[in-house]
Formats: sequence, C-alpha cells, structure tokens
Amino acid sequence: MIYDVIIIGAGPAGLSAAIYSARGGLKTAIFEKAIVGGQINVTEEVENYPGFEDSISGFELTAKMRAQAERFGAEFVEEEITAIGLDGLCKVIETPEGKHRAKSLIICTGAHPRRLNVPGEERLTGRGVSYCATCDGALYRDKAVAVIGGGDSAVEEALFLTRFVKKVYLIHRRDELRAQKIIQERAFKNPKIEFIWDTVVQEFHGDKRLEKLELVNRKTHEISMLEMEAAFVYVGILPNNELLESRIELDDAGFVYTNENMHTNVPGIYAAGDIRHTVLRQVVTATSDGAVAAWSAEKWIIENYDDFGAEGAHQ
Ligand code: NAP
Repeated sequence: MIYDVIIIGAGPAGLSAAIYSARGGLKTAIFEKAIVGGQINVTEEVENYPGFEDSISGFELTAKMRAQAERFGAEFVEEEITAIGLDGLCKVIETPEGKHRAKSLIICTGAHPRRLNVPGEERLTGRGVSYCATCDGALYRDKAVAVIGGGDSAVEEALFLTRFVKKVYLIHRRDELRAQKIIQERAFKNPKIEFIWDTVVQEFHGDKRLEKLELVNRKTHEISMLEMEAAFVYVGILPNNELLESRIELDDAGFVYTNENMHTNVPGIYAAGDIRHTVLRQVVTATSDGAVAAWSAEKWIIENYDDFGAEGAHQ
C-alpha cells in the first residue's frame, strides 16, 4: 500500500495540508509523535486567526482542524518517524512499527523554543524555569515572575501572566522591543509589567528550585541578582529538522527552503509552517502553507505518476 501523501507533524500546517489533501481525494496519512495541535496548543487565546472575533484557544482551534481533516478521511497515525528516505520517486518513512511509503511528503515538523544555554537553565527547567506560561503561569499566582525576551511571544506571555501574578519583570537584551507595536503598547500600559532593558540572564541560581537570576547589564556591565521563583524564557524558536535528510536544502538557521509552491529542492517533498524559511510564523500562514503544499503535491503526483490513482484513493 502506498499513500498519495504523508504529512509529518500535526500542527496547523499539517492539519491544513491534511484537510486539503484528503478533501481532494488523495490517500492521506498524517503522522504525529506527540500531541495533535503543535506549539499553538499551549496558547490560551489566538486573537488573530480570521473567523474567531472573540478569540479561540489554540487547543480548541486545532481540535476543530483535526475533526475537519478526519471528516474528509485523513488517517492520523501516532508513530514517531525515525528516518526519511527515497526509493526512486517514492518516499519511504520509517517508524518503530515499520516502513510506510508515499508518492509525496509534506514536512510540517514545526519548531521549538530556543534555550538561553546559560548555567542552571537545564537543571532548573521544570523547577521554576519554564518555556510555557500557559502551562505553568497559574502556579505563581500573586507572586513576581520574570519573562526573558522581547519578541511577540515574550510580550504576549508577559501580558497573559499579569492575569495571575503580582508583577512581571520583562528582561530584554536591548532597549527596544521586537514585538508588534500593538502588543508593545498593551504591555507599556500594563502597570504590572516592569521592563529591565539592555540586560541578559547569565545564570539561574537555586538549590532545588529557582531562587535567583544573575543579570548583567550589557551597556554598563553591572551584575545584579534578582530574587525570583519563576522565569519564563521566550527567546525565539529553532527548527525541528533532526529528521531531514542532508539532501533537503536548509537556511543557515536550519529552516527548510521552499519555492512559492512549498516545494523543497527534492522532487515531491514539500514543507509548510514554522519549519519553513519564511518571513512570518503565524497560525494563518501555517494553514496557508499547508493548503498550498497539498495542492502542489497533488499536481506533482499527477505529473509524475502514470499510474496515479492505481494505488491511492483515486482508484
Ligand atoms: P522572536 O521574534 O525571534 O524574538 C526573540 C526575542 O528573544 C527577541 O527579542 C530577541 O532579542 C530575544 N533573544 C534571542 N536570543 C536571545 C538570547 N540569547 N538572550 C536574550 N534574548 C534573546 O521569537 P518569538 O517571540 O518566539 O516569535 C517567534 C515567531 O512567532 C515570530 O515570527 C513572531 O512574530 C511569531 N509570533 C507571533 C505572535 C502573534 O502574532 N500573536 C505571537 C507569538 C509569536 P532581539 O530583539 O535583540 O533580537
């Protein structure tokens, strides 16, 4: 049995690709090693996905996408892919359960939070150092917490945390935020957020749990200690590209290059969503990428498989 399309990763990009591919009549499997929904699952309120004027939680949004993909016949497979290979035109993926073959592949493996890589960070992760305010924020009700970073994630999560906590120290390495202006303005107006500019964390201190952040001012080189039970790190994202074979072309940061049809440099292999080299990483751009990738994969299969339909759902 050969699938028309195998999609790797069930975040918004993969789910959208599955909806388009399955609805188009292609035999479609979507592989996810963890939880369907991807990174957006832990976002409390998605305010800018069109159609939900009162916002929707990331979890609810992706649950709806999954139901939609299933309605059109996409097959969800909970297996971890350990290798990707080629057998002529055919793509072969390996999991602990065995091998699966597909005419085309859509890579939607997404990204994960960047670590600061400073002493104490790894040891105290889950003990005060966190990468998920939605998961852990409520544990620090009426306490002061730190957020590290100056992008959309840091500022949005700082705003989210003000719902529970007494105070948020937002620690940023420059004196200007990277976040969108509308989000910045909300943060500047929020009396619970105090900004610590031009500053980086150089060590997390604590015995069993986080107790102190050792900070250094990048302009004055002054070192200070900030007593804190929780620090939420939001300093960007890194691509989940471990699986990608060496012949898939990546940018310097490890994101996949595609053309406007989401085609990678390998015939019949597409990429969509956060794993892609792109200017904007949003749910709406991920779902759009997924749709284009599925459409392109179908065109590619028609052009390259004389027996299109013989083994897939088109028979
Ligand atoms: P990001 O935009 O790359 O911002 C990362 C932030 O962390 C930057 O302010 C950066 O500082 C800082 N940083 C990086 N490395 C650091 C280090 N070693 N030490 C201290 N600070 C460091 O990442 P993000 O905020 O996670 O966002 C990722 C993508 O998702 C972006 O495209 C963003 O627009 C998108 N996003 C959108 C929304 C939304 O629209 N609602 C919400 C969340 C995320 P510099 O500014 O000095 O480089």
